[in-house]
Amino acid sequence: MTGEWLTAWDRSAGAHSAAELFRSRFGAEPDGVWSAPGRVNLIGEHTDYNGGLCLPIDLPHRTYVALRRRDDDVLRLVSEREHAMWTGTTDQVHPGAHLGWAAYAAGVAWAVNESADPAPATGADATGDVRATSDTHPAPGTRPTPGTRVAGFDAAVASCVPYGAGLSSSAALESAVAVALDDVCDLGLGDSDAGRAVLAAACVRAENEIAGAPTGGMDQSSSLRAQPGHALLLDTRDGTVRHVPFDLSAHGLALLVIDTRAEHQLADGQYANRRATCEAAAARLGHATLREVGAGAELEAALALLAEPGDADAETTIRRVRHVATEIARVEDFVALLDAGRVAEVGPLMDASHASLRDDYEVSCAELDLAVSVARANGALGARMTGGGFGGSAIALVEADGVERIASAIADAFGAAGFTSPVFLVADASAPADRDTA
Ligand code: ADP
Ligand code: MG
Repeated sequence: MTGEWLTAWDRSAGAHSAAELFRSRFGAEPDGVWSAPGRVNLIGEHTDYNGGLCLPIDLPHRTYVALRRRDDDVLRLVSEREHAMWTGTTDQVHPGAHLGWAAYAAGVAWAVNESADPAPATGADATGDVRATSDTHPAPGTRPTPGTRVAGFDAAVASCVPYGAGLSSSAALESAVAVALDDVCDLGLGDSDAGRAVLAAACVRAENEIAGAPTGGMDQSSSLRAQPGHALLLDTRDGTVRHVPFDLSAHGLALLVIDTRAEHQLADGQYANRRATCEAAAARLGHATLREVGAGAELEAALALLAEPGDADAETTIRRVRHVATEIARVEDFVALLDAGRVAEVGPLMDASHASLRDDYEVSCAELDLAVSVARANGALGARMTGGGFGGSAIALVEADGVERIASAIADAFGAAGFTSPVFLVADASAPADRDTA
């Protein structure tokens, strides 16, 4: 095949790698190996921190964690991808600590302990703060038993999910650690969707508060709550999900993922800046989130309220709000087509999503735009950037027999433009976080 392809590891081989790394670094057997997938979002971008809808699928590419529970508070973490072992204690894991990659693993233990703690809620977050449910009377299996503490553990990580490709290696790591801790500490959360929602919320807190990345909740929900053969319709306003059948091969289609390998240094600040603009606009409109803005005439009325002639910031805010509101409507339209068995007709919605992200939300870049336009020029039914933007990946819906031809056209175009060679993968809707047999 032309171009570089990233094939997913076979699950038993991935589990074996993590277990071997554990044995070689810790000189002991792990209690087990758990793994969790990266994800790719079909549509609904930058909506998850606005109470909106998104529609990810889990990738066959997973992060594998071999883990052994300890009786003391020591944490020892190694990853095939990172040079040094991270060693510390649980009391070193708190907001404001600079833990590097270890934040994504150790932070989950911290967040699980926080959510089991009956302390009063503070700083609840629209993405579903764990503590938001803890003041009421939760149903069994919807939060850790009060007083449950995750103590120390040793963990070894092996992964075939690329870093920073917009495919959510961070949530894959958090979610694998979450299901591992659930198992070894008997939290009783991994066996139900309600329990997995609690684990997802803990992973979001780890990422937001310990790693310091202000992301929404899509990635962790997908990695923990999606189903194979289905896209996950996630409503981030109330955390509810619906599993929408998504079987492209039955329609002679495939989803080509193009990792552009482009990384833009401004990405983190730009993400936080977009989020702050949305939250301020919602507040000005008197809404909890931009989800309440609605579509059509309601959207036009909201945009008119935000208008201040001659004010460039107001003009920018209007474009940001328009993206979020129209993108939520596109998710609804996309799901309606899937429900009607008309998956081959979703292409124009993908194209419109890309245009909105490029022009109104301004989170695309030259590499993403090139991947999308070459895919379309070579017969893709639709294409768009996916993930946060400023680099990362694009997706193209293509006829199954056109995958290699379109990928090689994109690789050629990247070469001609002087861009780093892209990496390709084909995404089938795969399985969520779970225990492996090593
Ligand atoms: P993305 O989630 O799109 O891949 P992020 O910047 O959100 O990108 O997360 C990438 C970060 O997550 C890495 O820089 C690293 O700190 C952490 N991480 C992800 N996977 C691993 C892994 N296998 N081993 C160690 N750290 C990891
Ligand atoms: Mg991430």
